[in-house]
Amino acid sequence: FSRPNHRPIAAALQQSQNDDFVLEDVPHLTNFLPNLPSYPNPLHSSQAYSIVKNTFVSQEDVVAQNIVIRKDNPRGVHFRRAGPREKVYFKPEEVRACIVTCGGLCPGINTVIREIVCGLNNMYGVEDILGIEEGYRGFYSKNTVRLTPKVVNDIHKRGGTLLRTSRGGHDTQKIVDNIADRGINQVYIIGGDGTQRGAARIYEEVEKRGLHVAVAGIPKTIDNDIAVIDKSFGFDTAVEEAQRAINAAHVEVESVENGVGIVKLMGRYSGFIAMFATLASRDVDCCLIPESPFYLEGRGGLYEFLDQRLKENGHLVIVIAEGAGQEYVAAEVPAVNQKDASGNRLLLDVGPWLSDKIKDHFTKAQKMPINMKYIDPTYMIRAIPSNAADNIYCTLLAHSVVHGAMAGYTGFTVGPVNSRHAYIPISRVTEKQKTVELTGRMWARLLASTNQPSFISSDLEGVVQGIDSLNITSI
Ligand code: ATP
Ligand code: MG
Repeated sequence: FSRPNHRPIAAALQQSQNDDFVLEDVPHLTNFLPNLPSYPNPLHSSQAYSIVKNTFVSQEDVVAQNIVIRKDNPRGVHFRRAGPREKVYFKPEEVRACIVTCGGLCPGINTVIREIVCGLNNMYGVEDILGIEEGYRGFYSKNTVRLTPKVVNDIHKRGGTLLRTSRGGHDTQKIVDNIADRGINQVYIIGGDGTQRGAARIYEEVEKRGLHVAVAGIPKTIDNDIAVIDKSFGFDTAVEEAQRAINAAHVEVESVENGVGIVKLMGRYSGFIAMFATLASRDVDCCLIPESPFYLEGRGGLYEFLDQRLKENGHLVIVIAEGAGQEYVAAEVPAVNQKDASGNRLLLDVGPWLSDKIKDHFTKAQKMPINMKYIDPTYMIRAIPSNAADNIYCTLLAHSVVHGAMAGYTGFTVGPVNSRHAYIPISRVTEKQKTVELTGRMWARLLASTNQPSFISSDLEGVVQGIDSLNITSI
């Protein structure tokens, strides 16, 4: 991500860019509005920040993507460190900010909304904050709501999004017309991969029109599949709640003869929730994720493993991510090829398919009656408020994004990279999805914990390598 008209960066950074150091910088309003005046950051006189030792983040502070240093490896990609800057490019009384939430629900959205509003107000004295209702289309089809610290005071205790959400209906021209007409100069966009792609289009159009508007994205995905950042908000909460479903399945199957529990968890293309919930719970016999192709019959297959476990323990629990085994379901269920309003392919429901398969296997092939308990906690997990760790994380995200927009950054998203919050170009988080690396240590830990088959037969090794070559982040 190198833009020829990027604001000149500090000499030291420029120097180091000549060797193996890469700075993936984010755009700044002064790139296309060079005559913008700057103002001292109001945090200079803020009660909270005036006592902080180093209140402001230096322009030269960067966060390294590669934290483990290996001899002879290049220093690689770095991002600007997030945080308050000495100078701001908006007078607080001239700021008119808006917040919009799009895509599916995820624990913590309300906390992010709350902390953007309170951060803007308490730290910078911004009072004019608008809520855009029902996603992107709300820009041109709904009235706005005024957001004040009082309005958002206790919304973090509720699941969902105060501003409601939607899919589809993204008309960049109409949205930017609306931003200009309403005199909005800071746009905070909370949403998943599709939403962030939409945010990139909005930023490009804003820049084309030369508007003094900062466009900032806050990546939201319960699946934790956003590239670059350590973890997405709501993920910890989701794992915790998923464990409750696994526990329920375990209690059920332990209490009956030949109990078989199946818990279907979220994870369209990435099995992080299933993997972490399995590792955390220890009650799971087998975890199936989209990244790891599995097979049912034959040596090393799922049936063989389940036969053995049921014989040994008298019960078993399987966790399956919603995107796993799609190719098997597709081969047996008539093709529907449906899409949602945003154009995303709708997945086939692998949970009931797997339940039927396993039921048939035991009752017909093995002549052994089983007690099947199938649990799909998806909507229960999505709808809960965020836990303590996620609430704190959401606060940091929101404050970081507010500091960035006030400092004049635009076309950026925010998130922790190796535990330090950084400003990341939007394009970097949408170009690839983060997936579980099958040759990584975390998946090996899971295999060691459940003792399940890896399902990697010699003819599948190429597939696994192919999948892993798409990954850019491993845990
Ligand atoms: P999640 O998948 O986590 O539920 P998402 O943000 O990916 O969240 P989508 O329904 O795909 O959810 O997209 C949300 C909004 O972003 C919709 O209004 C959609 O029109 C818009 N959008 C999706 N993809 C794009 C794209 N490629 N370019 C512009 N806008 C997009
Ligand atoms: Mg999406």
